[in-house]
Amino acid sequence: MIFRQVFDAVSGTYTYLLASRRGGEALIIDPVLEKVDHYIRMIRELDLKLVKAVDTHLHADHITALGALRDRTRCVTVMGEQSNVDVVSMRLSDGDTLRIEGLALQALYTPGHTDDSYCFRMEDRVFTGDTLLIRGTGRTDFQNGCPRAQYESIFNRLLTLPEETLVYPAHDYKGDTVSTIGEEKRCNPRLQVRSMDEYVDLMNNLKLSNPKMMDIAVPANQVQGMNQRDILELGWAVMAEQAKGLVGAPDIVLVDLREKTEQLRHGQIPGALHAPYEDLDEAIQPGGVLHALTAATGRRLVFYCAFGERSAMAVKAAHAAGLDTACHLHGGLDAWKKAGGPILQ
Ligand code: FE
Repeated sequence: MIFRQVFDAVSGTYTYLLASRRGGEALIIDPVLEKVDHYIRMIRELDLKLVKAVDTHLHADHITALGALRDRTRCVTVMGEQSNVDVVSMRLSDGDTLRIEGLALQALYTPGHTDDSYCFRMEDRVFTGDTLLIRGTGRTDFQNGCPRAQYESIFNRLLTLPEETLVYPAHDYKGDTVSTIGEEKRCNPRLQVRSMDEYVDLMNNLKLSNPKMMDIAVPANQVQGMNQRDILELGWAVMAEQAKGLVGAPDIVLVDLREKTEQLRHGQIPGALHAPYEDLDEAIQPGGVLHALTAATGRRLVFYCAFGERSAMAVKAAHAAGLDTACHLHGGLDAWKKAGGPILQ
């Protein structure tokens, strides 16, 4: 496995780059905007293909690189379903598996620091975001933070993992890089409480000042800019209401770009073809299945995904590959459902 921990000294943020092998797919957790060139260089040097960029929660102390990485690598941006952020292309729920080639991370919904905080467990380690820090815990006094929820998330979820599980947090301000669940249980001063009430008292009396970047970072992280706005202006989008009339139409092909797990959880549009986003480049090139399909039948490709972000990138790629009638469902399956479109469960 390739595992890199990158530190941003300005915000004290740790970013993690993961891949199962050199030359394979990569995933990045909690990337920082100012470090994008650094990540891109690492990815290139290790011969990796960045396919997913994940934020553990909406950050208040730095601007995320999710939007920038998406623009530069066409990776899928991922957060929890609770995050009030526009850029997200795939949303996770508790228990979902986040996959790239050769690696699987289990998403644990762990509210408390914020109401959209997730941890990610992978084999011998857990990425704890700001839920559990080394000898500390994430503050709970803004962004719908809640010390009770955090106590539950830490004591009833994270601390039930095997003691030897490695803990990789999203921040450290003292120079520590990794800990274990057992070590934090014994040595983390915030965890030496006898009850939830005691923990709540402790957290409510920290009297911390707001992070320096908070007023800038929170709004910036909520609005990273969506791909589908450009696509709409180019006239390559179909609105959900209008798209309902396309189901079963002989001259179009609806193409579902989501992963199998998303289809199972959220259902799909009847009659759609499945072509996962990660295999798109191959499918739209001459000789690829989608290219052949449109060449042979003259049918128009209508891409869709969960929220319209992956499909917007797919439309751009398809046009670049010469499939110039390709379009997508604006707002994705989410908009489709809101418009009352039929769903195959
Ligand atoms: Fe945070």
